[in-house]
Amino acid sequence: MSADPVVTTASSEQALQALAERVRYWQEVLRLQDWNLDVRLCRTHEMRGDRQAIAQTEAFVHRKDAIMRFLHPMDTDTVSVNFLFGEERDYDLNIVHELLHLHFTPFHRDSETPEGVGQEQAIEAISRAIVKLYRVHRRGSRRTDRWRGMPQGS
Ligand SMILES: [Zn+2]
Repeated sequence: MSADPVVTTASSEQALQALAERVRYWQEVLRLQDWNLDVRLCRTHEMRGDRQAIAQTEAFVHRKDAIMRFLHPMDTDTVSVNFLFGEERDYDLNIVHELLHLHFTPFHRDSETPEGVGQEQAIEAISRAIVKLYRVHRRGSRRTDRWRGMPQGS
């Protein structure tokens, strides 16, 4: 997948603003408006723990606060080996995935357990389905709401 020219010319501040707006959009669609989200665009060294992650969500369930870290577009090439079909640069998909984790926080399981793996697989399958349907609908309705400043899937 070639680099989006908008991204390469956009400043980090513009990219963060575009990302935060997109998170707000999906937050409403997924009915998660009661969560306070701190959206961050991070370079590789700013990601917590797993440096191969494209996005990370740190949820504080009792307050319904969450810090959401998304890997900066400049660094997505460093994790590309772990993803198929350019999904590491599909921010809609990654936003929906991270937001769905908030719905599942009461049922959180360590990702190494069978239950955790099953939960991760379910979230990934649901995320892909939602974004796929969203794009089919968008094409059908001829709406042009492509967002500037951040890469997105086709
Ligand atoms: Zn996940």
